[in-house]
Parts: sequence; C-alpha cells; structure tokens
Amino acid sequence: MFSLASAQDRHLIVFDLEWNQSSYAPNHRMPHEIIEIGACRVDRDYRVVDTFSAVIRPRLYKKLDKHIKSVTGITEAELEQGRPFSDVFGEFIAWCGEDVRLCTWGRDDFPVLKRNAAFFMTPMPFEPPVDAQLVFAHACLHSAHQQMNLHNALDAMEIVVDVPAHRAVYDAQCTAALLSRIDEAVRALEPVQREQLERALLRERRIAASSLRSVPTRHVYQSEALQDEKLMNVACPACGRRTAFDTPWFDSGRERYLALAYCPQHGMAYCQMHFKRLPAGTLVMHQRAYAADPEQIQEVREKYRLYQLTPPKKRHHRLNMEDALKKAAQHT
Ligand SMILES: [Zn+2]
Repeated sequence: MFSLASAQDRHLIVFDLEWNQSSYAPNHRMPHEIIEIGACRVDRDYRVVDTFSAVIRPRLYKKLDKHIKSVTGITEAELEQGRPFSDVFGEFIAWCGEDVRLCTWGRDDFPVLKRNAAFFMTPMPFEPPVDAQLVFAHACLHSAHQQMNLHNALDAMEIVVDVPAHRAVYDAQCTAALLSRIDEAVRALEPVQREQLERALLRERRIAASSLRSVPTRHVYQSEALQDEKLMNVACPACGRRTAFDTPWFDSGRERYLALAYCPQHGMAYCQMHFKRLPAGTLVMHQRAYAADPEQIQEVREKYRLYQLTPPKKRHHRLNMEDALKKAAQHT
C-alpha cells in the first residue's frame, strides 16, 4: 500500500527550490537557474527533525526576475553572498544521506534540479520525488486534476504554519506540515481510488524521468520546423538512440504537438512538443519524451486518427509532420 514514508526509507526529505530566469536572454540548456535550496527532514510521524537552507550564487542570470524578487523577497545582494551550485548541491546530497525518499509540492522542482545538475556537470543521485500536491489532490480533494497551491492547501486543511512564506525552506516546512493529514486521507481511500492514485504516481515517475530537449532554430514558421527531420527526431528517453515514429508529430490543439516514437529495445515513448518565438522572430523548439503506458499509446493514436478524419480546411491552423514533409517533397 502506498504511504508517503515507506518503512524501507530511513527518512523523508521534503525539498523546495527557488529559481531565476531571463525572458530576454534565456540559455536553453538551463532556462531556470536555481538560486536557493530549502529542505526539511521528517521522521515517521512527519515531525520536522532538521532543516537545510542555502542560497546559490547564479552563474547565468544575475539580475533577479521582478516577479521572483517580489514573491521571495530575495535580493541580488543576498545572491552575491551565495555559493556556487555544485558546492551547495554537494552539501545537500551529503545532508540527505543514504536511503532517502524525496518529496516536493508539485512536479516542477525535480526537472529543474536535473537540468541544473546536468548544466554544472554535477552527479545527480536522486530518484524522482513523490509529488505531495498530486497525492493531496487525489486523497484530500478527490480530484485527480485539481492543482491547489501550497498555501491554499494549508488553508483548506486549516493548518497554520508560523513561518514567513515563499522562501524555499519555509515552503518545504509548509509541505511537511501537510504530510500527516495527507497520509491519513490516503489510508481512508477506497481501493478503487487508491489504485487510481498509484497509477497516477507511476505516470508521474515516468514523466519525471523524461528526456527534455530545447533547441533554438533558424525557422520562422512551424510548418518549416516540421520539415526539419533532424530537429523533429526524438531520442529514446531510456537509451538515447534514434527512434522511429509510430505516430508522427501533429498539432493536438493550441499548437501542442504529440507523437509516438518507437525504440526497438525500450518500446514506445510519449512525445510532446511546442514552440516559442524569440525576440528575433525565430522559433525555439521544446520537446519532452518519456516511456508511454498502453493508455497513452491508445490515446495518441486515437487523437491522430480523429485529426486525420477532420477535413484539412476544418483543422484551422493545425499542422502535422506528414503533410509538411509531403508538401516539401512536392516543391523539390
Ligand atoms: Zn531505447
């Protein structure tokens, strides 16, 4: 049975990150740069027994984003006093110790941590964390799709935590304050609901292990980008080798592209893609791929089947890779 703190783990570590970014000159290898790691260690009864808090001196984005500055209250002067990512992350790993299970509120922190570790070429020893926000939605709100922010969740459970909001370590403490109530609610779930929760957690683990790819392109139009075979390729999220398309990229609505890519060794990957425009007018491509479950394989194939049944005029501006390649072939 799922429990937040399983008997095999010595400790549960709740962590939270603050990060900075630049909308003017983003580096696509690390669009979000971590500026603070905060965490707390909780015992089996979800009592906080230790805390960790450290500010990181940014290497890429030294000027704080206005929104981040106002939400966190962190200043540039404080960042100057921080230490390099590799030092702080190394210290955090040591502080966590062995046999830990990580927990966060929401699914955003772990991919950012992975990307920062890769950028700074620092080893990344952690498995994907348990997303307390997801468990909370299932167990306390009985809704798989509702995402409640941390402070609303505390209000909803009538829990008052006497710490200043929005610094990483305090957010970790707030998350920790919810855990025993979440665990209680999980225990009270009907078997069917618990099964749904476990399925959702498995999917989250696969998403957390996604491969991400962001590439600035020379293309101005998405139709051009779709013809760029090198750009459209998907590497297998498990082995990194080239895959073949089971279902080619198509706009599933609102310029969110989906595809299924097949690796002979690791099976099907669920692939998502979207584009963003740089101030210069060219497009940046963002791709994500992770191991697909049978449900997702069905879902993507079915969406593509319906897409193909829609007469081209009624697809509005929705594009797909097959048509783009056909058009390109006609012009040559
Ligand atoms: Zn593979």
